[in-house]
Amino acid sequence: MKVLVINAGSSSLKYQLVDMVTQTIVTKGICERVGADDSFHKHGIDTDERVISVYLPNHYEAVKAVLQVLVDPHTGDVASLDEIAAVGHRVVHGGEHFSDSVIIDENVIRRIEECSSLAPLHNPPALAGIRACSELMPGKPQVAAFDTAFHQTMPPKAYMYPLPYEMFEKYRIRRYGFHGTSHRYIAERAAILLDKPLIDLKLITCHLGNGCSLAAIDHGCSVDTSMGFTPLEGLMMGTRCGNIDPAIVTFMIEELGMSAHAANELMNKQSGLLGISGLSNDLRDVRAATEAGNERAALAYEMYSNSVKKCIGSYVFALGGVDAIVLTAGVGENCERMRRMIFQGLESLGIYMDQQLNTQRGFERIISEERSPVKIVVIPTNEELMIAKDVARLCA
Ligand code: AMP
Repeated sequence: MKVLVINAGSSSLKYQLVDMVTQTIVTKGICERVGADDSFHKHGIDTDERVISVYLPNHYEAVKAVLQVLVDPHTGDVASLDEIAAVGHRVVHGGEHFSDSVIIDENVIRRIEECSSLAPLHNPPALAGIRACSELMPGKPQVAAFDTAFHQTMPPKAYMYPLPYEMFEKYRIRRYGFHGTSHRYIAERAAILLDKPLIDLKLITCHLGNGCSLAAIDHGCSVDTSMGFTPLEGLMMGTRCGNIDPAIVTFMIEELGMSAHAANELMNKQSGLLGISGLSNDLRDVRAATEAGNERAALAYEMYSNSVKKCIGSYVFALGGVDAIVLTAGVGENCERMRRMIFQGLESLGIYMDQQLNTQRGFERIISEERSPVKIVVIPTNEELMIAKDVARLCA
């Protein structure tokens, strides 16, 4: 059984074809700059990757281009589309409607549309991808996997904001949380690595990439998470500011004369590592500048680690202890220096990082010392495989 997983962004469309028998990637690719004159399509894995220059005016054409490449008689990966059993779509916002992935029907499409105002850059392209697949592969089962679904188990004390209650009742202003598929995947994998049932574990999962979020997981359920009504809340990120005093927003608008749009752009695209270092949103660049003596880069680096550290601390208390802290994504998986800074000085809390194990790379591993009551685990995330598994489960 092969499953096609599609992740449509505002101007891109990523995909993976997954073989569910071997649970491996058959092929993958990305259509970039969708809607622009210089759009292109990258297809294939590692050395087999090729770049196809093709005009992709919209997501429908992008899906069409992907399907054409997959069934190409000379270079294709499947003989026909019949070999693809079903399609899974990553959908960023499912609001309060979905606590699990679902088979897509008209009702689901309507609900995703309803949530578009909460994720205006992400839900509409996902819908375009779904509609394109319905048209180009009629009758093929399709599944939606929501970034928000895993966090629907949060109790009200975690998802409510201390605003007037009507803001929640009338406008559904509450914490939704994101990166749910990644948090769920690494929690499940960590339990297997630790050889304990997930239900018996208290975990703090840390998705640290360009976007960053933490989740507190108890009995396999998300009970709190750092991203909120939007993916702007919480930790300092590559270009996003995360938590700041909300009065800064009104100050920027009222005192500095910024438009609401400009303030939003500043917080989403010009802040975080980029805003503090003034150099880059990429931690590798910030690290290199730090090592070359750049003080603002060093400050950005310290602020990033401190932001993660403080959030981990708050979740230890919220959970009443923790069995393992699990790290993933670009920074969490690869940056031993950032991991060292995050876990420095926590020995009195039973967190002992093994400096030697911390330098290893590229596979699922425990990087805490044997004697450490709290385990530190690194799990390379695989949201596409998680979505493909949901598709297989729901379409079985
Ligand atoms: P992601 O959003 O998961 O793709 O992660 C992107 C972030 O991971 C960027 O800030 C990268 O700088 C960071 N990253 C990737 N590889 C490394 C590495 N080897 N060392 C430090 N940061 C890395």
